[in-house]
Amino acid sequence: VVRACAAHGVPLVPQGGNTGLVGGGVPDATGRQVVLSTRRMNRVREVDALNLSITVEAGCTLHEVQQAAAAHDLLFPLSLASEGQCTIGGNLATNAGGTQVLRYGTARELCLGLEVVTAQGEIWDGLRALRKDNAGYALRELYIGSEGTLGLITAATLRLFPRPRAQACALVACADLPMCVELLAAARAAFDARLCGFEAMNQASTSLVRRHFADLCAGWPQALEAAPWLVLMDLGDVQPSTRLDDDLQAFLHAQQEQGRIGGALLAHSLAQQRALWQMRESISSAQSLEGLNVKHDIALPVSRLADFVSDTTARVLSQWPGVRPITFGHLGDGNLHYNFQAPPGDDPAAFLARHEPAINALVFERVRAHGGSIAAEHGIGLLRRDALVRHAPPAALGTMRAIKRALDPQDLFNPGRVV
Ligand SMILES: Cc1cc2nc3c(=O)[nH]c(=O)nc-3n(C[C@H](O)[C@H](O)[C@H](O)COP(=O)(O)OP(=O)(O)OC[C@H]3O[C@@H](n4cnc5c(N)ncnc54)[C@H](O)[C@@H]3O)c2cc1C
Repeated sequence: VVRACAAHGVPLVPQGGNTGLVGGGVPDATGRQVVLSTRRMNRVREVDALNLSITVEAGCTLHEVQQAAAAHDLLFPLSLASEGQCTIGGNLATNAGGTQVLRYGTARELCLGLEVVTAQGEIWDGLRALRKDNAGYALRELYIGSEGTLGLITAATLRLFPRPRAQACALVACADLPMCVELLAAARAAFDARLCGFEAMNQASTSLVRRHFADLCAGWPQALEAAPWLVLMDLGDVQPSTRLDDDLQAFLHAQQEQGRIGGALLAHSLAQQRALWQMRESISSAQSLEGLNVKHDIALPVSRLADFVSDTTARVLSQWPGVRPITFGHLGDGNLHYNFQAPPGDDPAAFLARHEPAINALVFERVRAHGGSIAAEHGIGLLRRDALVRHAPPAALGTMRAIKRALDPQDLFNPGRVV
């Protein structure tokens, strides 16, 4: 297909599960772009338990890859709320993150090798299951995160891990974001690699879940309901005998004595752990039910997060009084979903149409001032292309364009996206 498109100069849009949130896998309105879906390339080619690796085709859903690993009592740790629909090809093309990055890294860190169809229609077989390989340039790294602009990923060899036998999870009340960041530092010192997830949510985010999915917050102690910020801590250990719950309880008790936290809800069963995660993962849906909102998926050094949020939120509120900041995300990775809902009573769509460009400009300028990234997990696609052009250092942008010209001189793959 790629060779035929190259011969006739027809542009291609690779598409996996179409769950990307920045318009990268969607053709333009000309009707002249070929959508190349990988969904039927969905075989698990090999599981190598001794090498802790798995080779799968690009159209396998993330859930199918997790299941194939679990069938060998192993773990593929990438985990996203869209895992039933998104594909491993899409995960790699967007360098997806998710809930376990703190412990296991992003899709990039989980990938050992790739098979790619180049823009010339050649097949590059780079499916090496090696931890060390310095034979020339690391081509794999170019395709990961390239959002379908450089070639088509058709298969991947991925890292597997021993499956955790014990898990513990708690929802914790904090007075403010600096306290959440202090709690993260304390949790890292106490648990090191056993700390798998560390999510933070401001009260406005959890109030939305309470309003739209009340049963997910049933039975919370008063300290949690009233807390300005909540943290979801997730621990895992390969030792079945470790008393993770006890360790977590002792840690939380000590944090409460030191005045870092206001209270906590410890999950006592797998079902309760799942319910806490479901609450966290329902924030986006609850927000959608409130109407359109201004969204940002940003990353900052953890040490700068609290300053960024207090500085930027104050500026936004002074220019747009009454706007509601919905701030939540993967705090352990320095990744926030930093969103704004229209003031109560305003029409959300009209507010978005009038104010989104100016709010985005302010937020991205502050992100840059605090040393952050305007696209943490969801990539650039079409939605953030102009912002990338405005905010990327000119030398970086020039290099990206040179790579695109070198690998795809006809501008065949996903034209107009990213750069
Ligand atoms: C409810 C929900 C929760 C989400 N949570 C997260 C999260 O926590 N973390 C996160 O990182 N993302 C998250 N996402 C975003 C999304 O799920 C990921 O970006 C996912 O990795 C995209 O996979 P996909 O198969 O759906 O790709 P698509 O949407 O089909 O494509 C995404 C991009 O990759 C390109 N592409 C797709 N397949 C290939 C291929 N085989 N070769 C080359 N290019 C390709 C496309 O052209 C496009 O540019 C979430 C999305 C939803 C809807």
